[in-house]
This record gives sequence, C-alpha cells and structure tokens, in this order.
Amino acid sequence: MTEIFDAIIIGTGQAGPSLAQRMTREGMKTAIIERKLFGGTCVNVGCIPTKTLVASARAAHMARRGNDFGVTIEGQIKVDMKQVKSRKDAIVKQSNDGVTNWLKTMENLTVFEGHGRLESPNSVRVNGDLLEAETIVVNVGGRALVPDMPGVHDIPYLTNSSMMEVDFLPEHLIVIGGSYIGLEFAQMYRRFGSRVTVVQRGERLVEREDEDVSEAIKEIIENEGIEVRLNAECAAFEKRGNQIAVTSNCPDGPEEAVGSHVLLAVGRKPNTDDLGLEAAGVELDARGYIVVDDELRTNVPGIWAMGDVNGRGAFTHTSYNDYEILAANMFDNDPRRVSDRITTYGLFIDPPLGRVGMTEAQVRESGREALVGKMMMARVGRARERSETQGFMKILIDAKSERILGAAILGIGGDEIIHSLLDVMYADAPYTVIQRAVHIHPTVTELIPTMLGDLKPLEVL
Ligand SMILES: Cc1cc2nc3c(=O)[nH]c(=O)nc-3n(C[C@H](O)[C@H](O)[C@H](O)COP(=O)(O)OP(=O)(O)OC[C@H]3O[C@@H](n4cnc5c(N)ncnc54)[C@H](O)[C@@H]3O)c2cc1C
Repeated sequence: MTEIFDAIIIGTGQAGPSLAQRMTREGMKTAIIERKLFGGTCVNVGCIPTKTLVASARAAHMARRGNDFGVTIEGQIKVDMKQVKSRKDAIVKQSNDGVTNWLKTMENLTVFEGHGRLESPNSVRVNGDLLEAETIVVNVGGRALVPDMPGVHDIPYLTNSSMMEVDFLPEHLIVIGGSYIGLEFAQMYRRFGSRVTVVQRGERLVEREDEDVSEAIKEIIENEGIEVRLNAECAAFEKRGNQIAVTSNCPDGPEEAVGSHVLLAVGRKPNTDDLGLEAAGVELDARGYIVVDDELRTNVPGIWAMGDVNGRGAFTHTSYNDYEILAANMFDNDPRRVSDRITTYGLFIDPPLGRVGMTEAQVRESGREALVGKMMMARVGRARERSETQGFMKILIDAKSERILGAAILGIGGDEIIHSLLDVMYADAPYTVIQRAVHIHPTVTELIPTMLGDLKPLEVL
C-alpha cells in the first residue's frame, strides 16, 4: 500500500520525536519509523542506563569509603547485580515509555514499527508499506563498531548494547578501548567488584584530550585498581575454555590478558549501511556518515539528516540541537547553523570531566597568543571537604580578544561547572565577566574567578 505524507522521519533518536511534534503542530501529516527501541541509543543503551549504573557504582564506592568520613558499615559491602540491573531497567523503562506514548498519541503522526529503507528521493519502504513525502528526515544514529581484529568473531564479546543485559558480576572484564565509553564501563565494573583491565591502542587514554588530562584520568582509574595497558596496537582474541585471552604487543606489560568477559568500546559506526541511501542518491563520506551542509540538508533536495548519523556531533545534546536547527530553518525563517555550536561534552567517570571548546593542544596548533590558568582540585575547599580532591581545572584565553577558547574541568562537579564557562562563551563576553562575578562559597565554581586572576602566557613549546 502507498501512503502519502508531508514528511517522513526515519529513527526516533534524540532529534526525531521533537521534530515530529513540531511538524505535526505546523499541520504537516507526518510519519515516523522506528525499527527497535523508541528513544534510540541514549534512552535505551547509552546515556540514561550508563549514568544510572554509574550512580549504583558510586554508591558502592562511597559505602566502601565510609571509614574516610567516620561512617562505620559492619560487614562486607556487596553489590547485588540483579538489583542494579532492575533499577537501571526501571529508569530506562520510564523514559522509553515516555517517548513511546508521546509518539503513539501524537495527533497527525503515524508511527510505523519496522526497518525503513529509502527507495527513491521521496519514498521509504517499511514492512510492506511504501510511504511517500516531499520531506524526509534521517535520524538513525549509530551502533558499536566491531573492527575486524584477529579472532574477534570467535569470542562472545560484549558491546554497550549487550552490556545492558548483564545482571551478574564478570570475574575479570577486559575493556578494549580506553576512551569515553570504555572508561565509564571500566570504572563502574571495578566498583561493582570485577577485576578490570583496559586495553588501549594508543599511547595514552582518551587521546583527544590534552596530555595532562589523560594522565590525571589514568591516575584516577589506576588508583581504583584498574589495570591499564597502553600501546596495544595489535590486539587479538582467543577463546580458552571459559576464558578469553587478549594478546597485544604492549611494551609496558605482559603480552597477554586473560579474562572472563570482553567489552568492545572502540568507536561507533553510523547506521547507514542498510538505509537505501544509494537509491535516493544521498552522499556519504568515507566513514559512512551522511554529508550535510551547515543547516543539515543532504545533497538531495528534501532529504535532511540529524544526530550522530551526520558526523557533526556524537552526543544527545548535539542531536537535539540538530532538531532545533532544522526546525528554525524550516519553520521560523531563522538561519541557525551547526557551526554556531560550541563543542562541549562530558566524560562520566567519577569524578567527571567537563569539556568545552579547544584543548590546549588545539590552541597551540592555532598559533594564537593565549593565556592559560590551571588549578588543582586539591586547592578547592569543596573538594577537600568532600575528600574528593582528584583532578584539576584548566582554562585557555585568547590574549587579544580576552575570549575563553576552551576549558577542562576534571574533578568533583566538573560536568556541571563547565556550563558557567560555556555560557560566557555563548554570550561572546570577555573572561573578565566571570572573573569579576561573585560566586557562592563553598563551591568549586567559586574558584574559577581565582583561577582567572592568575593567568600565565601559554609558552611556546
Ligand atoms: C554507552 C553510551 C553512552 C553514552 N552517553 C552519552 C552521554 O552521557 N551524553 C551524551 O550526550 N551522549 C551520550 N552518548 C551518545 C548518545 O547516545 C547519542 O549521541 C544520542 O543517542 C544521539 O543519537 P541520535 O539522535 O543520532 O540517534 P539514536 O539515539 O542512535 O537513535 C537512532 C534510532 O534510529 C533507529 N533506526 C536506525 N536505523 C533505522 C531504520 N533503518 N529504520 C527505522 N529505525 C531505525 C534506531 O533503532 C534508533 O532507535 C552515549 C552513547 C553510548 C553508546
């Protein structure tokens, strides 16, 4: 059967449902297609469940640290993984139900459950139905990358998705990939009680960050008893009875790690391989991401792409901002653009990293004259009061314009505090605005003006 719509949205990630609401409110007869879980990665197998698990892991960690605060807990601290998972499932279900009910009761919207595939620039097939529309918006996200490492297909590896079903304690979890997703899982499972090894290909963890940030993160991770193996260029896998052996040419340690479970956290892959994009003539880049312009149009008139699939962001907030950009351009005659967005994200180990703008390495590369301020968390009263003094804050300022170029806050509350800097950047105000602001005592943010009062020229290396 062929059905005609004004717009078709493929995928219900972080942008599609909000766009569906806006389109239907604008009177457009709209279809939305979801092949699996309403709400996509973030709601079901990404941000929400992982942060829920991080919270359980922190509770276990703090219980073990009770003595540091004069709190005595009799007996051994035990983690009930079945209860940890059911708490996570309940919180995820709330969000998943919320999106599902929202979409299924939305006026003027038809929900199709199945895999959508483009058949032409203005038609999509889902199950047996052919849907046609002048406007098609792709919000299909991505999935865990499974690289062709030797032996990988002969072992029962886990990904961020299958980790969501784990309701037991792996005896020894080997995490392949020492970046944002891998480190979150590594720390949480260590805190649950597993032995954990992180195997990282590069010479340091989270290589996108500055060296001092990577080093401090390694220290945090290792302090909790996680083994970190760097320079593991040629990881290979082999099943040995109930165990899995991971070999690598790791110069800093033994060549082999043998564990009970392996988690692959080596990157993401866009869901563009089975979407019929070739039938519609939509251009992809070399890594399979949909090429879009600054307002999210693909090369095919009428087809747009939002979220991780366009390669212009890899976060929930960037996907949601894509919706805002598309809606502003489509309905409000407001030319919002992707390039107006300031890079910001978190790494949700504990304590977390909040990041905004350029790294120190990027500032140096740009060749501009800059100032740098740095303060160790050990100097921050709030951190000392809570006995959580790991990490530091660092900020980079353009010496001429006095604008904030970037910052990293690794430490207690870093993922929240970073927004005070982000907002000054969005206001396009000089750093002196926040330097002269009076902040609440005793908080971490109160020390940002102090750090800004002690800037040094960024020395050329
Ligand atoms: C473990 C993990 C933790 C994360 N934590 C954070 C975090 O803390 N903060 C943050 O900002 N980001 C985080 N992210 C990233 C975040 O989840 C994504 O950036 C976010 O979900 C945006 O995705 P999206 O809107 O592009 O689509 P997605 O959320 O990936 O959704 C795409 C949807 O499209 C559906 N779909 C795909 N193909 C088809 C098809 N052909 N037909 C029909 N439906 C289809 C999928 O089933 C899915 O439901 C995390 C990711 C992971 C994996």
